[in-house]
Amino acid sequence: MKSDNLDIDIDSIREEFPILRREAENQPLVYLDNTATSQTPSVVVDAIVDMYECHKANVHRGVHLLSREATDMQEATRRRVAAYINASPEEVIFTRGTTEAINLVAASYGSRFSEGDEVILTVMEHHADIVPWQLLQSRTGIKLRVVDIDERGVLDLEQYRSLFGPRTVMAAFCHVSNVLGTVNPVKKMIALAHEHKVPVLVDGAQASPHLSLDMKDLDCDFYAFSSHKMYGPAGVGVLYGRRELLESMPPYQGGGEMIGHVSFDGTTFADLPFKFEAGTPDFVDIAAFARCIDFIERVGMENIALHEHALLEYATERMAGIPGLRIYGTAPDKSAVISFNVGDIHNYDLGLLLDRLGVAVRTGHHCAQPLMERLGIPGTVRASFAVYNTREEVDVFVAALQKVTSMFS
Ligand code: PMP
Repeated sequence: MKSDNLDIDIDSIREEFPILRREAENQPLVYLDNTATSQTPSVVVDAIVDMYECHKANVHRGVHLLSREATDMQEATRRRVAAYINASPEEVIFTRGTTEAINLVAASYGSRFSEGDEVILTVMEHHADIVPWQLLQSRTGIKLRVVDIDERGVLDLEQYRSLFGPRTVMAAFCHVSNVLGTVNPVKKMIALAHEHKVPVLVDGAQASPHLSLDMKDLDCDFYAFSSHKMYGPAGVGVLYGRRELLESMPPYQGGGEMIGHVSFDGTTFADLPFKFEAGTPDFVDIAAFARCIDFIERVGMENIALHEHALLEYATERMAGIPGLRIYGTAPDKSAVISFNVGDIHNYDLGLLLDRLGVAVRTGHHCAQPLMERLGIPGTVRASFAVYNTREEVDVFVAALQKVTSMFS
């Protein structure tokens, strides 16, 4: 099946994802929980198996062949990621994921903040971009200032602009909301922060699977993302940091590999990026992560985004016929995420019943409790799309939704 005049064949893309052939509750699986994690193509799984079967050895530690091979594979991914996001390899720090990347910045860069300094966040942040700042707040007495949204889920840019003051030391916000799908105007927001000489951290967890990334074009200071949302393995993430900033920051964790020389009289630290990579990294998954970028580039990010957008429009249109359905997040050009409730049916009940019909969606607060509070709801059901989803799956999902919601009327 060709996708809406795009140059990609979704059937052959689906062939690359063995998990999509399995059944759920005796029906073909319809996987619409891609915002939580997306599925992984065979080429990436094969790369993981290849590392275990042929090259596994600890990286940066051995002179022997296997260690050199494993190190080369890890460092090849670093170069691949750097080229992909238009950065230099020293600016690419491997972490466990977006969460660890943000914690790294809050703990390390944030160690220079003092009582009364202000960090600007937004009400649509994932807990991963709230709690690390609160932990810092309890250590240093910083204040958190929060930007609101309008009824569509669009950030109040005037308020954002007005929150900058003499004590502002950082702005941290998501590129794309995991609940509302809103794509924030991050380039503009970064430029505004820079007018006040304030550095910016962008949580790119939900942007990296759907948008091309260019750190130089964004003029970004810190950017965090996770492999598992980009068709990749779990356990790998990236912190991009502007070199001058990373160089000025103390290490985040101490241990092997991040040192220059250790003695009981004092320790010196390794150069970038290793200063921030204490201990054995997830070198197996890091090596395989390069194959995800190959996959995304082969399919083409523009094709991915156009296909997902077509699915979003189609699903939104089809869902409109369901009595009592309310969608949260209607920003223009939003990402392929639909958060919704139907009447007063609990999101959890809807999710469980959809699951019985083979449809995997997410339910609950989506790690965005302050946003739920802002919306005045305990949670939503969330359907989210990836490149391998089809209009037929949308039809199955909508039919299932019609069936389960009619049970409550
Ligand atoms: N930020 C956003 C916007 C997210 O959607 C997520 C994952 N749901 C995270 C951060 C955290 O990502 P991870 O669990 O991979 O660290």
